[in-house]
Amino acid sequence: MKLHEYQAKQILRDFGLPVPQGEVASSPEGAKAIAERLGKPVVVKAQVHMGGRGKAGGIKLANTPDEAYAVAKEILGKRLISPQNPDGLIAEQVLVEEAVAIEKEYYIGITVDRTTQHNVLMVSLQGGMDIEEVAATHPEAIATVAIDPLLGLTDYMAREALYGAGFDHSLIRPMTPILQALYRAYVACDANLAEINPCALISDGRIIPADAKITIDENALYRQKRLASYHEESIEDPIEAEAQKRGIAYVRLGGTVGIIGNGAGLVMCTVDEVARAGGRPANFLDIGGGAKADRVREAVEIVMMDPSVKGLLFNIFGGITRGDEVAKGILEALQTMEVKVPIVVRLAGTHAEEGLELLKGTPLIPASTMQEAAQKIVELAR
Ligand code: GDP
Ligand code: MN
Repeated sequence: MKLHEYQAKQILRDFGLPVPQGEVASSPEGAKAIAERLGKPVVVKAQVHMGGRGKAGGIKLANTPDEAYAVAKEILGKRLISPQNPDGLIAEQVLVEEAVAIEKEYYIGITVDRTTQHNVLMVSLQGGMDIEEVAATHPEAIATVAIDPLLGLTDYMAREALYGAGFDHSLIRPMTPILQALYRAYVACDANLAEINPCALISDGRIIPADAKITIDENALYRQKRLASYHEESIEDPIEAEAQKRGIAYVRLGGTVGIIGNGAGLVMCTVDEVARAGGRPANFLDIGGGAKADRVREAVEIVMMDPSVKGLLFNIFGGITRGDEVAKGILEALQTMEVKVPIVVRLAGTHAEEGLELLKGTPLIPASTMQEAAQKIVELAR
């Protein structure tokens, strides 16, 4: 789960980092009021889950509250497009923050390195710009150091990284506590990424986080009560957000063949089979075990919210879930709603024959193997 810059900055503030003063607004009036309260020049920053906001026109300086009003008006509701987000994202909120006079921009970040099975600290003098770009063109400009989970991020690890990246001796003392606070925040909020880019050296000599990006491990949300409340709004796709609300495991994939199955593994296989049959899967949806009519209806509703869906494939393996129960669930669900696309149902396992028997005389098209089902639905969805 990605956090917005203002949310990430609040966390960093809680861990003692010198985050510039600022507040978030969702209207030009709100932005103006914040600028008035701050009483100094501000920077108005679009709160969207993407990097490169600066280049996309989502970050603007404002010297007066009236200017803050004007630039907030310009940014709010605007579609910001970056190379990584060609469809763009719309800013519904702006962070209005005291502007700082940046002299140098550094990069610092912590993430999980699955190869070494450690959290790693990354630092670079080439901050400000896209770090993926730096990694691709000048990998030697980024120093990485594995963080010992028992020792934490010690002074010597910080020194190794900073000297390794070519930081000046005079920066070691001020940078070390910043790296350590970032690591404490990272661990405490179950993050799998925490970045400050730029970590800025400003005109008065202080080093401050000018930007912040934190991604939380969603498996930890049960114990991250405050962060859990950010979850729904962090989901960009409106259908995924709705599915999340209803507690349904749904991922939009962009194709035309809607897929509903029971069990994550089976659904992933189905996605593959549809692709193998020459189709493009519209989604992943795991309906779970023991699916009854209500749940089936909700699943169908979610899948059909995507207007590109041209056919629907049910792939059910009856184990504890009995095939006839699921068939009944599908039929009951379809009585209460109108689905205009062809539906193929593959039932196997416990009580599959009884289930297929129930489908006779209905518009549902039975299939006995996954491959056959995939071929049929791909054909029909053309
Ligand atoms: P990103 O482009 O989405 O990563 O957004 P950032 O928050 O990193 O901002 C992009 C760039 O805007 C930074 O690298 C800075 O050069 C500039 N910037 C951001 N905040 C300020 C500020 O308060 N003062 C000044 N002078 N520049 C800023
Ligand atoms: Mn940045």
